[in-house]
Amino acid sequence: MPPIGVTKHFNYLVLGGGSGGIASARRAAEFTNISVGLIEKTRLGGTCVNVGCVPKKIMFQAAHFCEEVKDMTDYGLNFEGPFKGFDWGNLKPKRDAYIQKLNGIYGSNLDKSKVELITGTGRIIGDRKVQVDGSIYSADHLLIAVGGYPIWPQIPGAENGITSDGFFELETLPKKTVVVGAGYIAVEMAGILNALGSEVHFLIRHDKVLRNFDEMLSNSVTEELEHSGITMVKNANVKAVKGSKPNLTIETEEGHLIDGVDCLLWAIGRAPATKDLGLDNSNIKMDKKGHVTVDEFQNTTSPNTYSVGDVAGKFLLTPVAIAAGRKLAHRLFDQGQEGLKLDYENIPTVVFSHPPIGTIGLTQAEAEAKFGNDQIKIYQSKFTALYHSMTDRKQMTNMKLVCAGPEEKVVGLHMIGRACDEMLQGFGVAIKMGATKKDFDSVVAIHPTSSEELVTMR
Ligand SMILES: Cc1cc2nc3c(=O)[nH]c(=O)nc-3n(C[C@H](O)[C@H](O)[C@H](O)COP(=O)(O)OP(=O)(O)OC[C@H]3O[C@@H](n4cnc5c(N)ncnc54)[C@H](O)[C@@H]3O)c2cc1C
Repeated sequence: MPPIGVTKHFNYLVLGGGSGGIASARRAAEFTNISVGLIEKTRLGGTCVNVGCVPKKIMFQAAHFCEEVKDMTDYGLNFEGPFKGFDWGNLKPKRDAYIQKLNGIYGSNLDKSKVELITGTGRIIGDRKVQVDGSIYSADHLLIAVGGYPIWPQIPGAENGITSDGFFELETLPKKTVVVGAGYIAVEMAGILNALGSEVHFLIRHDKVLRNFDEMLSNSVTEELEHSGITMVKNANVKAVKGSKPNLTIETEEGHLIDGVDCLLWAIGRAPATKDLGLDNSNIKMDKKGHVTVDEFQNTTSPNTYSVGDVAGKFLLTPVAIAAGRKLAHRLFDQGQEGLKLDYENIPTVVFSHPPIGTIGLTQAEAEAKFGNDQIKIYQSKFTALYHSMTDRKQMTNMKLVCAGPEEKVVGLHMIGRACDEMLQGFGVAIKMGATKKDFDSVVAIHPTSSEELVTMR
């Protein structure tokens, strides 16, 4: 019987049906006699499936084809007539249908796992007690995995723009786009729109994008953006947005004026979805930005209440949310796993820029600060991939190994270039195992590839 006033009691209640919440709920339900409920207010799958990784990668793939179709003629492929360009109206419904299919698969997977789906907006009303419409659910253990949302600026006329969520609602390719922001979402979307044929103006507040990445990456990707035909507007702060769609004028404090804009994309960061969650009804503390404060075991400041994923503010990536959620489920409900937690060190990350970035571990600056300059050795290689030997279009590949101490342990690996997105995962295993430069060198190279450079650097 549930406690008085409570509609239903669960062993484990998960608030948020995105990457972290679903993964944790389903894993917990594998353990004997653990009842699991999951509350989701919109479509299952969260940001990643609906307005993040998945539709983004589909658009990246289309953009990639648009670049490569030009290369194909350089390789001797003959097409009848000129390339007619990209048809947004053809791809979008197919992409939407695929996402809808994924929503359904997530739903049936919850069913199969015997996780009870509660549809509605959850609000915490007490310790491990959540209200959804007229019902109250309680739990022995509560997980908060509500993710985040894109930030809008406080600028006159800002509402005429869109955020990354709106990008996925676009029905046609914008003719002239202004992208504002300098993080990976801004970089990815500017690159996609440019490759698909939009005229892109990219406004950044400083002189480089991805400024928290290794300096080599930050410099290289900024150069490649310029090289690809995007107009980079540096040291620019938007002051006002005038006019109405599809004819906006963007004004900056520095005096830039960009007119005739039919798409203004704000990609200026994300905020945790904690504002109306009722966290103060349960003594769950947040940091200044509103992220739920957790310890290394994902414990919040309220007993038997946990948080994973974007809302906890550390490494805002799908696999991080999933891994933290699953590990938590094992720690709570599996035998002998009381010490299990996610190791947040050496998390590999890819940016789907043009060309893509793969990065893991410490930047050179972080390594120098941690170990001292004299303890760091840098290996670097810059080259044009063999692929481009036949193409008029050129993109650079740039790779860097950051090694520390006399044994030259590889503490950072950073690369940008063709196929770097697919190269990183395996090297991630090596770095996670504590590989040294000597270990890298002991592997026979695979020729001719770009990745062979990583095991032949001197
Ligand atoms: C444009 C874009 C591209 C991205 N690309 C990548 C990528 O390539 N690779 C990668 O690893 N990551 C990528 N990410 C990040 C990734 O999407 C997130 O890190 C991941 O989705 C976080 O998972 P989560 O479970 O923490 O939250 P989410 O997936 O956001 O899920 C949270 C869920 O909680 C629900 N919710 C919120 N409040 C309530 C409430 N009160 N009641 C009920 N339900 C609620 C939401 O509706 C949502 O479904 C991208 C993100 C964006 C925006």
